[in-house]
Amino acid sequence: MRLNSFLKLIPEFRDYVWGGDRLRPGHNPTAEAWVIWEGDRIESGALTGKTLGEAAVELGVDLLGERVFKRTQLRFPILVKLLDCAQWLSLQVHPDDEQAVKLEGPGHFGKTEAWHILEAQPDAKLIAGLKPDTSADDLANAIRNGTVTRISQYISVTKGDTVFMPAGTLHSLGPGLLIYEVQESSNLTYRVYDWGRAQNEKRSLHIEKSIQVIQPDFVSPVIPAPRYDDGTCEMLVKCEYFTLELLAASSRPIELDTKNETFHAVTVIEGKARLQSEGESIVLEKFQTALVPSSLGKYQFQPLGNCRALKAGG
Ligand SMILES: [Zn+2]
Repeated sequence: MRLNSFLKLIPEFRDYVWGGDRLRPGHNPTAEAWVIWEGDRIESGALTGKTLGEAAVELGVDLLGERVFKRTQLRFPILVKLLDCAQWLSLQVHPDDEQAVKLEGPGHFGKTEAWHILEAQPDAKLIAGLKPDTSADDLANAIRNGTVTRISQYISVTKGDTVFMPAGTLHSLGPGLLIYEVQESSNLTYRVYDWGRAQNEKRSLHIEKSIQVIQPDFVSPVIPAPRYDDGTCEMLVKCEYFTLELLAASSRPIELDTKNETFHAVTVIEGKARLQSEGESIVLEKFQTALVPSSLGKYQFQPLGNCRALKAGG
């Protein structure tokens, strides 16, 4: 089935302990909004009520695109979350695809991710890697002793910055950050340290596995906010698992094209925009997301006033 309409998705929310109230006012804590996820339901059009994962199986390459289908077949390959960090998140690491199979078994995937900073308090920090010249032994000792934050690389960030985090990078997000996160769709997280919070079945530490996968020499540099003019599309991250681009406009539309290679996942992060194809148009408010099926081809991103959006692809 060829699909020529935009798929608006209903986000799912998670109320983990470290969340705040910016994503879903009135529901505190709301830590995460899963805006692009295989479990999200479609809100309008021919596929209403189905999950994105079901739509991917039904439509295959027409939804996913040729490049994506070649790599991960019918599985929807990425997950996009918005994170409202009122406290430090657990310090964690993800395996790569190869380590995921080795440590967890066949059918498991690793996780490479990227963050785009939506809001940051003046003193907001994150952790992305280890201090220079940390040896593998220092790292293993610090993790086992619970002193890993002493060798962690703290980085200050501001609104508009982007951080790319290959699998194997030790990382965490600090209080005062509102984040857009794109990642390989995988649930493999090894928690290294949890700031003294009580451990239970849902929040346990994974000491030995994390020692096996952390790359002591990985530090993620910050990619500063690009300078943009009205009606521009800037590539922020391009890796083998996903692309991430920033759309910025106030009056000029941006011409976009899936080229049958990949879906586009468009999330408005400031203002309001309209997506317009030959046969259809939809309006996206702040934090709303539409999936553009690969078979849709050319469409326009039209700002309704000052607007910025992030576009992820496979
Ligand atoms: Zn992570």
